[in-house]
Amino acid sequence: MSEFELIRRYFSRAAPNALLGVGDDAALLQVSGDNVLAVSTDMLVSGTHFYSDADPFLLGHKTLAVNLSDMAAMGAAPRWATLAIALPDASEVWLERFSAGFFSVAQQYGVELVGGDTTRGPLNLCVTVFGEVPAQLALRRSGANAGDEVWVSGTLGDAALALAHLRGEIVLSESEFAACAPALHQPQPRVALGLALRGMANCAIDISDGLLADLGHILDASQLGAEIDFARLPISPVMSAYVQLPLGKRCILSGGDDYELCFTAPAKCHAGIKVVSSRLELPLTCIGKVVAGRGCVMRDASGKLINVEARGYDHFR
Ligand code: ADP
Ligand code: MG
Repeated sequence: MSEFELIRRYFSRAAPNALLGVGDDAALLQVSGDNVLAVSTDMLVSGTHFYSDADPFLLGHKTLAVNLSDMAAMGAAPRWATLAIALPDASEVWLERFSAGFFSVAQQYGVELVGGDTTRGPLNLCVTVFGEVPAQLALRRSGANAGDEVWVSGTLGDAALALAHLRGEIVLSESEFAACAPALHQPQPRVALGLALRGMANCAIDISDGLLADLGHILDASQLGAEIDFARLPISPVMSAYVQLPLGKRCILSGGDDYELCFTAPAKCHAGIKVVSSRLELPLTCIGKVVAGRGCVMRDASGKLINVEARGYDHFR
């Protein structure tokens, strides 16, 4: 199979919402109305972000999903993507499954693949996603205000707990692992939530490096602090069995790969956010508030300070 045959077979799909899609030297994209383009790139490297024998369907899913998560965190509607892929060999079985996983997410979120690059090399997947948002409504990290409530979607830590199991740091039962694994392998980008939060939230971030690290980015960009109640952090039934262990706490606070949204909003929006939560059938939990000052203070149920090390994953530390 030649490079061009490979692209044609596995990565060329109709892109009716692009002026020009795969097949020319560049794609041509037109945003609608007064919207601006939101552009984001994420790379997944074999051995760093996934095991080289990872299920290709799940990998295809995750490769696009983590990029759409960035659109969600900006309040942007994802529209198009490009895919740069380095492959050790052109395994048709692998390509078939990978592209099926990728396009299943693309279809679910109305995203069109409009270009990319294909080379031979150590397995490496890089997606750039293009979305649209009215400039004034984009959810920037710098938008938090003192007094805002801090919210998170879904539950925290399951992806890290599943990964800890795969690494042999903890042993989950079969059913516990089955309950946590989807968070690790098939994260659901919170695109509908990002759109619903336009005009309501002041800022948002997706949790890819752990709550503390990512909330920390909001606080740094907004030059503010936060007070968070550990007992209010939303966790799954499986995680509730591990929350007392240091490893459980670490997964909840510093575990990566959750791809939930953390956002802040004025207290007057509290009821509106609860309405969004039930409309989307997605738990949204208020976990604390934004305060003047810097850094994040966390308290346990009795009000005692918890010493938090606000370190998420850092590739170079
Ligand atoms: P060029 O040499 O002009 O960069 P390429 O030969 O790399 O073009 O690619 C041919 C066409 O196929 C281009 O439109 C490119 O965007 C597209 N393409 C290449 N690889 C991929 C891929 N993995 N997924 C989607 N489109 C791709
Ligand atoms: Mg090229």
